[in-house]
Amino acid sequence: EGILYVCGTPIGNLDDITLRALNTLKEVDLIAAEDTRHTRKLLNHYQIEAKLTSYHEHNELEKSKELLERLRGGLDVALVSDAGMPGISDPGYRLISLLREEGIKVVPIPGPTAMTTALVISGLPTDRFAFEGFLPRKKNERRSYLEGLKGEERTLIFYEAPHRLTKTLADILEVLGDRKIALCRELTKKFEETISGKVSELLEEFKEDSPRGEMVLVVEGGVIQQDEELEEWRGLSILDHLESL
Ligand code: SAM
Repeated sequence: EGILYVCGTPIGNLDDITLRALNTLKEVDLIAAEDTRHTRKLLNHYQIEAKLTSYHEHNELEKSKELLERLRGGLDVALVSDAGMPGISDPGYRLISLLREEGIKVVPIPGPTAMTTALVISGLPTDRFAFEGFLPRKKNERRSYLEGLKGEERTLIFYEAPHRLTKTLADILEVLGDRKIALCRELTKKFEETISGKVSELLEEFKEDSPRGEMVLVVEGGVIQQDEELEEWRGLSILDHLESL
């Protein structure tokens, strides 16, 4: 029986690939790639000749069954996506879930992922965080989704497309309030930039002209709702209390 290797690939800078990932990509019988042309460029850069097959959103289910048969037949397969870790806002989950149910060995070859890369440089708390992927595209859905996150205390991480940035910032401001935020764009690439401030400040800055490229938004978690009565009571010292009698 073959093994499925889940391989991390760069999120921009082609040097961000591990030696183990390169060796694995060289050695497997087949590479299942989200976009074979995209992956071919990476392989060419490292002079790796490999057999590629496509595995993407639209053929995930049928392709998973086909790959299962190949693995049962003894082929070793590497799974890669266009960038970062497969399965993180990318195809992979269905295949991995099926293979695990069928008892096929799945081995991770960890690499970069935009979410944790953004989180660690955001300056926001890293001890607890919630990755939320892409927000719904429709305004109403996006808002109600954000409503559901209002009480979330963990740092929030979102992926976003540049043409939706200002709409998303406006919704975050309205629903979650004027929290601290970091916008990390073009990570590991030439025009890498992290802009941090309050949501209202970023909204003001990008009102006219949204920044280009790939981006991650890291948003401060919500503060625990204060019990006002309790706070008032705590604020009164015993002396104050006695004086007021
Ligand atoms: N699998 C990838 C990962 O592990 O991060 C994510 C794939 S998802 C389809 C693509 C989104 O990830 C982009 O729209 C952007 O939000 C984020 N992203 C990927 N590469 C990035 C980079 N170099 N800089 C900033 N964001 C990036």
